[in-house]
Amino acid sequence: MGLLDGKTVLITGGARGQGRAHAVTSAREGADVILLDITEQIDSANYALATADDMAETVRQVEQLDRRALPFDADVRDQQQLDEVVSAGIAEFGKIDVLIANAGIWTRAPFWEMTDAMWQDMVDVNLTGVWRSAKAVTPHMIDRQSGSIVITSSVNGLEPGMNYAHYVATKHGVIGLMKNIALELAPHGIRCNSINPGAILTPMTNQQAAWDMFAGHEGGTRDDLIAGGYSFHALKGTTFMPPEVIANTALYLNSDLAATVTGVTIPVDAGHMLLTG
Ligand code: NAD
Repeated sequence: MGLLDGKTVLITGGARGQGRAHAVTSAREGADVILLDITEQIDSANYALATADDMAETVRQVEQLDRRALPFDADVRDQQQLDEVVSAGIAEFGKIDVLIANAGIWTRAPFWEMTDAMWQDMVDVNLTGVWRSAKAVTPHMIDRQSGSIVITSSVNGLEPGMNYAHYVATKHGVIGLMKNIALELAPHGIRCNSINPGAILTPMTNQQAAWDMFAGHEGGTRDDLIAGGYSFHALKGTTFMPPEVIANTALYLNSDLAATVTGVTIPVDAGHMLLTG
């Protein structure tokens, strides 16, 4: 018996990183998954976003668990694409029980040097994209008077971060959005919660700009990132964490174990906020 037996889970940004961990964890617990990601680069993001090969690998890992995966090349900035994914997912699986709004980007510059494109792309993906994703699944969840939405915020939804004001603004923003979604959907039996990951080892963080940030200078390396991860977290021996730690928390929130939990945000940060909060 799995915690999500017979459920259908829609995951944005599902091709890799935490999105892949959500897909595999949900499948392991009995769910079929609908995955969407973009295969096109967003110009202001100076690291590579997902590829078709990334998506194919996630599908392979889900199918290896004898669950079904329905992949889409779609952009959370485009309402029509999201609505089409939801319709196609319902046509294939009959229903959508869970949305994990996970897609996101991260870039870095002092706020006064940030370009309009950096700011706007961040807001469009990390904040408006979450609203659009929730908007796409909600009429169906209201019809069924059932559902769970999990939104990926960040510890930067609770505290500032040096030189990424736009990211911090969107990650604070989705917590407010989560609370409003939870309030408006509670009368329909639909829950909404968010998660604040600490430092997670994914392609978003295992790249030059994050290496440099943790090194404190340009030309940083992966070793600098891993070394910095230890002091980022309070919990003994914890550097950058595997994405499964976030998937396990979403699993709890999306399962009946959390049947009366709504409108909350859960830091999964190995005690990071104890050091800074
Ligand atoms: P990641 O870059 O591996 O995953 C993000 C995914 O979102 C990628 O596959 C990317 O292609 C996809 N994506 C980006 N823009 C999109 C768009 N417009 N439409 C559809 N898909 C899009 O990084 P990750 O760490 O797995 O990030 C997952 C979430 O976790 C993000 O919201 C991120 O902000 C958040 N987060 C990450 C960390 C960390 O340390 N890695 C910490 C806190 C929060």
